Amino acid sequence: MSYTDDVLAVVEKRNQSQPEFLQAVKEVLESLGPVIDKHPEYREEGILERIVEPERQIIFRVPWIDDEGNTQVNRAFRVEFNSAIGPYKGGLRFHPSVYIGIIKFLGFEQVFKNALTGLPMGGGKGGSDFDPKGKSDREVMRFCYSFMSELFRHIGPDTDVPAGDIGVGGREIGYLFGQYKKIRNHFVGVLTGKGLNWGGSLIRTEATGYGCVYFTEEMLKTQGKDFKGKEVIVSGSGNVAIYATEKIYQLGGKVIAMCDSSGFIHDPDGVNLDTVREIKEVRRGRIKEYLEKHSSAKYGEKFSDIWKIKCDIALPSATQNEIDKESAESLVSNGCIAVGEGANMPCTPEATDVFIKAKVLYGPGKAANAGGVSTSGLEMSQNSLRLSWSRKEVDEKLHNIMINIHDACLKASNECGTPGNYVNGANIAGFKKVAQTMMDHGIYG
Ligand code: NDP
Repeated sequence: MSYTDDVLAVVEKRNQSQPEFLQAVKEVLESLGPVIDKHPEYREEGILERIVEPERQIIFRVPWIDDEGNTQVNRAFRVEFNSAIGPYKGGLRFHPSVYIGIIKFLGFEQVFKNALTGLPMGGGKGGSDFDPKGKSDREVMRFCYSFMSELFRHIGPDTDVPAGDIGVGGREIGYLFGQYKKIRNHFVGVLTGKGLNWGGSLIRTEATGYGCVYFTEEMLKTQGKDFKGKEVIVSGSGNVAIYATEKIYQLGGKVIAMCDSSGFIHDPDGVNLDTVREIKEVRRGRIKEYLEKHSSAKYGEKFSDIWKIKCDIALPSATQNEIDKESAESLVSNGCIAVGEGANMPCTPEATDVFIKAKVLYGPGKAANAGGVSTSGLEMSQNSLRLSWSRKEVDEKLHNIMINIHDACLKASNECGTPGNYVNGANIAGFKKVAQTMMDHGIYG
């Protein structure tokens, strides 16, 4: 058996009840053959065995009181995966599906994603099975205070810097920051995604969506194409989806479908982004309400049917494994030329194979959605400098980072003999940087 097979066998044995984590590890290890062959020292130093095992996993209880006065208890996590190249960095997810396997898959992906950004950030992830949907602001606030009453002792601006993810936006980051500041009596950049009045960065809110579009634009350029006149499906209607849509319109494309976890809207005239923002950002409502203002649009309850709509480009930006083999085949047979992953691991391994075999331009999440964490890195720099950069400055830096990530992935895909395979390119380019640093630090580092 090869070194990667040996390690995979151990990971499978140890993490049997964590399918998402196994899926993420398998995808990375399967790309690494050419690098491992060239570096026998990685085996001698146990690089793979160490890189698949989080440095630290914290699981804690979050008690809080709801508006009726009842005691509620949620389970929460912070997985500090790898600190080779910088402090742990990665978002917090509040969603009922959260358990340790989801947090470990996200933390593992984050290690390589952060390495690709070129900024000094290690990888981590956290969250809770708390569901903010349907909760009052006061309930969310009490939950966040209780969550931070434990998390504060594990994080810090040079140790571990969390951010947002599904279910954690500006409101939640505000409550979490307020509690950290109060307990520590310390005003520091311990979280990113902060409000602009208290250390946040311009463009952070937009960064993941914009970055995903910038990355996809670079892929299109390799074939002499662009977004102009293209019809695009963007799944989700949260932070990533909304700002990806905004950028697509700026580049002359048209978004024809979006969704939430209840269903999807199809508006052949082009989705009206102001309406979506009003429903999702202002009222925290359901995407179905779009039909009240735009009677030409259609609504479908079966989420996966969104991928049956004919489009030129797809940006899955909702959640993991939202595109399976069948959905991928629909997209390909309808003429889709590019897929940029705004979400983390939104395509199953079988769906990924379909895109790669059909030579669809396919940008994996750890590269295509790295704009969010890149801008979080820029927020950390501004906090350290006690400066704020202009919107234009941050956007330019973000754009350049996405171009550099694209070029690094393409270069690595060429070097390993699979030109244009961005999955191999992203895995290898991210891995090499982390592995070399782990070698520099020694086995106990
Ligand atoms: P939000 O919570 O802002 O939005 C998530 C959107 O996806 C909502 O519209 C939500 O619908 C929908 N959704 C969630 N779960 C499902 C599901 N099971 N089926 C269908 N729709 C679903 O999250 P973000 O936009 O921040 O995150 C979206 C994805 O992007 C995630 O994979 C996240 O890890 C990834 N990502 C986010 C980054 C960021 O900076 N925010 C950075 C990098 C990656 P509903 O409203 O019904 O819940």
